[in-house]
Amino acid sequence: MTTIIQTALPVPLPRQFDYDCEQLPAVGARVRVPFGNRELVGVCLGEASAPDDSFQRKAVLEVIDDEPLWPRPIWRLLEWAADYYHHPLGDVIQNAMPVLLRQGERASYQATTRYQVTEQGAQISPNDLKRAVQQQRLLAALQQQPLLSRDIRMQEFSPSALKALQDKGWVEAVEHIPAAVQSWSLKIAAEPLQLNPEQALAVAAIGAAKQHQTYLLEGVTGSGKTEVYLQAMADVLRRGQQVLMLVPEIGLTPQTLKRFQQRFDVPIVMLHSALTDRERLDAWLDARAGSAAIIIGTRSAIFTPCKALGMIIVDEEHDASLKQQDGFRYHARDLAVMRGHEEQVPVILGSATPSFETLNNALNKRYAHLQLSRRAGQAKPARHVVMDIKNLPLKAGLSQPLLGLMREHLDAGQQVLLFLNRRGFAPALLCHECGWLAQCRRCDAYYTVHQGSKQLQCHHCGAQQPIPRQCHDCGSTQLIGRGVGTEQLEQLLQEQFPDYPVLRIDRDSTRKKGSLQQHLQDAHDNKYPILVGTQMLAKGHHFPDVTLAALLDVDGALYSADFRAAERLGQMFTQVAGRAGRASKPGTVVLQTHHPEHELIQDLINNGYGHFAQSALRERQLTHLPPFSQHALFRAEANNADAVIAALEAIATLFPQRDDVIVLGPIPAVMERRAGRYRYQLLIQTQQRAMRAQLLRYVLPQLEKLPQLRKVRWSLDIDPQDFS
Ligand code: ADP
Ligand code: ZN
Ligand code: ZN
Repeated sequence: MTTIIQTALPVPLPRQFDYDCEQLPAVGARVRVPFGNRELVGVCLGEASAPDDSFQRKAVLEVIDDEPLWPRPIWRLLEWAADYYHHPLGDVIQNAMPVLLRQGERASYQATTRYQVTEQGAQISPNDLKRAVQQQRLLAALQQQPLLSRDIRMQEFSPSALKALQDKGWVEAVEHIPAAVQSWSLKIAAEPLQLNPEQALAVAAIGAAKQHQTYLLEGVTGSGKTEVYLQAMADVLRRGQQVLMLVPEIGLTPQTLKRFQQRFDVPIVMLHSALTDRERLDAWLDARAGSAAIIIGTRSAIFTPCKALGMIIVDEEHDASLKQQDGFRYHARDLAVMRGHEEQVPVILGSATPSFETLNNALNKRYAHLQLSRRAGQAKPARHVVMDIKNLPLKAGLSQPLLGLMREHLDAGQQVLLFLNRRGFAPALLCHECGWLAQCRRCDAYYTVHQGSKQLQCHHCGAQQPIPRQCHDCGSTQLIGRGVGTEQLEQLLQEQFPDYPVLRIDRDSTRKKGSLQQHLQDAHDNKYPILVGTQMLAKGHHFPDVTLAALLDVDGALYSADFRAAERLGQMFTQVAGRAGRASKPGTVVLQTHHPEHELIQDLINNGYGHFAQSALRERQLTHLPPFSQHALFRAEANNADAVIAALEAIATLFPQRDDVIVLGPIPAVMERRAGRYRYQLLIQTQQRAMRAQLLRYVLPQLEKLPQLRKVRWSLDIDPQDFS
């Protein structure tokens, strides 16, 4: 008998769709359905309780899955997220699926490539390959055990070594279908370290958790957070349960991964960007079947189903990449806490510089606050220096005292790290005669000068053009770069320190696949005494020989219109400081500024991030800003500014006028025009989350009827992180 089912489809509409189906699929199973003149892959939500008979219902074309894609707790998480973010469930579900599942691929393994030694290869002693170290290592590894192409261990070996061994006939690639469930048990491969008292306290507290509890593990870089993760994980793995760990986009270094592998002889899957869609699905299946013991991934990994989840870890929980900035704008850290609650497992949020939201939850005792206040092992805390550069001549943004300090460290054989959050040669091109500045035609922004590629580039819309020879206004040929970017800094440093090679790490120097990892490895191995980089360099990387770290230009953050700028500056300073002076070498961290007396800087330098954050939190409380109030941000854009303003004004009038609700705007975005489109925002602020949710539930259904909204592109961001 035919039943009518309700489905969630990947369309940006906040409603479900009914279809006829021969028999009722499992709730959470995928179905293929006709939609307009397309076919979509959706998910069955169960039998339709009040079918809509006002239109001709179509029939499901195919039921793809026999069972639900996700276990109950993840279902509840998805439903909760759709509700909390006021986002269509169909699109939430879409975001939670690996690409191949979105396309309707079966949720089962396919043959995948496995590398193994041939009979001949088994006879070869790797030691005979002394001259080819890469091949030697790979052959030795494969003699121990065959490896699947998606295995993270394969990443340690160069493709050319693999090819060479295959050409010699010692290694072969075979088609292999993984077993449905691969069992494992914990084998500790390396001895754990002897914990210091604070670490021991943290591990004990986490181990004592019988059910869900969220922990903030706060500790400066090098204080031994990773060691705490490892020992807390050991308990979970020993019980046969899995650990899910989220890391920032480029946060997990090969060194850290190696530590995991050295400690635990269990299957680890990593959902990283180098995987093919097939490998990603297979890793997902491993997690769902329980074959993977440890699952590591970036933000979307929070939706990975796990057969027997025992713990969630969010490393660098303050990191901006955990928040998705378009479409379904979720925060993976907040979803991690919610998932921990649904699955009744502990959640560890780790950071040297916790976000103010998390810190506030810890101060309120909603989260348990575990602190590691000292660097583990021998390392001493870095010395902080505020360098007043008022009236000092600057060379490519560097003051003479800083250059002097650099020379001292370099001559002592140590490494220096300079941090400048602006890539390119110069952030603007200026006519020396008339003051004309080369401006992007489509954005409210100046072109950045890129000398390497001899181009002017707009960093906001991607527009490019050759560097002009003449001023567009007066025809003068005296065009000069204004301000300093990493490219210029690199050039000057090469002139100043000809004996010390410089390595630049930014988006331009790491475009080629794999080049970032290579650069980071080279930096780690001290092949370059001088490191220059943008914020890419400030994320969780350990460079043991760096003893001097400097932030060159942060004054913008002190007087920014964005209320989160101070928080980010504090985090960046502390993260960069954490790069200096590991092991037994004392480090120095320098902040160049025109405002050495600024309260924020003084607090940060003298009292550290924790104190700084608490004072800044008090200020947020006084000014009723998050986390002491709740934000929802409507963004709209179109080619016509009036249309954008009218659309947001129409939305604004739907909100009731109440004392406890602030409706602010329409106001222009920080960049009012980007890629030719005008951009405005409407900010809704309430005291309570429940009030925000209630208002939006009342307002959103009315938006479909607003004609003003049809002329613009608009979106809603719950807990927005930036206003650019
Ligand atoms: P974090 O993750 O906070 O940056 P790590 O766990 O990586 O810190 O520890 C930093 C360094 O200190 C590592 O080299 C680690 O091996 C070492 N370390 C950590 N805990 C201890 C300990 N209890 N005793 C000795 N060395 C430790
Ligand atoms: Zn001019
Ligand atoms: Zn532009």
